[in-house]
Amino acid sequence: MTQDQTASPIRCLKCKTASQLFVCERLWDLKKARYIRIYRCECGELVWDE
Ligand SMILES: [Zn+2]
Repeated sequence: MTQDQTASPIRCLKCKTASQLFVCERLWDLKKARYIRIYRCECGELVWDE
């Protein structure tokens, strides 16, 4: 089971683009024991990978 995180497309739900996302912050997920990256789109929408 391989997961290429660097290539996983994370898209803004509003404008459906993945190119304008900036890493906003990282939150520690206790359940999965790893960081969740929070991205902010240019439109202001917050997106995160799960
Ligand atoms: Zn957007």
